[in-house]
Amino acid sequence: MSSTIPVAPAVHEHEWGLRGVEFEDGASVRVFECTGCEQVWFR
Ligand SMILES: [Zn+2]
Repeated sequence: MSSTIPVAPAVHEHEWGLRGVEFEDGASVRVFECTGCEQVWFR
């Protein structure tokens, strides 16, 4: 992996969760992310 990937300030055990995000225009996406930080695994 590249070193340009931002690293979480505090190391913790990521709690990955699938969350649905809806936009005002009606579109919606599901993102797989950690609930403890803003690191998005899959969008
Ligand atoms: Zn995390």
